[in-house]
Amino acid sequence: MNIPFFDLAAAYRELKEEIDGAVARVMASGWYIQGEEVEAFEADFAGYCEAKHAIGVANGLDALVLALRALDIGPGDEVLVPSNTFIATWLAVSEVGAMPVPVEPVPTTHNIDPSRLADAITPHTRAVIAVHLYGQSADLDGIAAVTRARGLYLIEDAAQAQGARYRGRRIGAHGDAVCWSFYPAKNLGAMGDGGAVTTDDAGLADKIRILGNYGSRRKYHNEVRGRNSRLDPLQAAILKVKLPVLDQWNDRRRAIAERYIAELADTGLILPEVPDWAEPVWHQFVVRSQNRAADMERLDEMGVPTQIHYPLAPSQQPAYNDLPLRSPLPIAEKLAAEVFSLPIGPHQDSEITDRIIDAVRKIR
Ligand SMILES: *Cc1c(COP(=O)(O)O)cnc(C)c1O
Repeated sequence: MNIPFFDLAAAYRELKEEIDGAVARVMASGWYIQGEEVEAFEADFAGYCEAKHAIGVANGLDALVLALRALDIGPGDEVLVPSNTFIATWLAVSEVGAMPVPVEPVPTTHNIDPSRLADAITPHTRAVIAVHLYGQSADLDGIAAVTRARGLYLIEDAAQAQGARYRGRRIGAHGDAVCWSFYPAKNLGAMGDGGAVTTDDAGLADKIRILGNYGSRRKYHNEVRGRNSRLDPLQAAILKVKLPVLDQWNDRRRAIAERYIAELADTGLILPEVPDWAEPVWHQFVVRSQNRAADMERLDEMGVPTQIHYPLAPSQQPAYNDLPLRSPLPIAEKLAAEVFSLPIGPHQDSEITDRIIDAVRKIR
């Protein structure tokens, strides 16, 4: 049997009856925008994230855009972002008219390096977006020490980190606004697009909710120039079914990651490092190799699919070839040249993991 990189339909197979029931319920309700299904999921998700408020939105990119807008960040402002993230983090900053200013990561954890923030701050800096890349929390205390001292907002891009913890507390409200994606392949994935923002700030939650609903609280009364970005009730109903099993599914990912870390330790691949304050949920299992292309090709020949997250840093993308860079980004570029991801997921059984480990051990 071919090993899939990630088996998206497996989640449906495991929860088919409940998902079918939820979908049929929404279809029969005649209520297809906002309403009870969305409110019920928002309440469950806020509770799960240990946050006071959750606002469903259309996708993860919109979650970031709406958080930035609600914090009045726009033209003339600068926002510090990781130099090595998925491009959505940068695009959100660009979309509100502000400038993304990249900050290099700690290479062993792939997350933004708090000790590099101060040098990137100018009088125009308004916020830091911390990304919990590959499912492992960034160094939130280290970042918050800087944002608090400089009066900056802390926004978290938690698109890859549903269920992760930082110093024992769930990701969900450490920063001012925490932005989520429910893209199907995320740890908590919908069957289409979806997203959310969680926060402990009632005023901010209210602003985000209004901005995502045409700037209106009351139909046809528009307080601000908003947009249409709402979580689909169908997706909310599906997510509500999947949320109760998320911890169990993340545990299955963790078991695979623990095996990779133990059984690939002597292969010469650089394995991810987990600081003692992080409880990652292993959205991706990312290794580094100086012979990446050859390694990936040999694994492919042995039936083990791999992917690269991400082959180019945002600063290397044509989309950002006009961005004035204040300093070179050698760490992001080195990581982009060396990283590749091994298959991992809640429906990858131990026999498949055996085969992946065997194959990696044979090629190294
Ligand atoms: C997936 C992702 C996003 C964007 O989410 P969408 O729902 O696809 O818009 C943003 N940031 C990171 C780090 C992501 O992985």
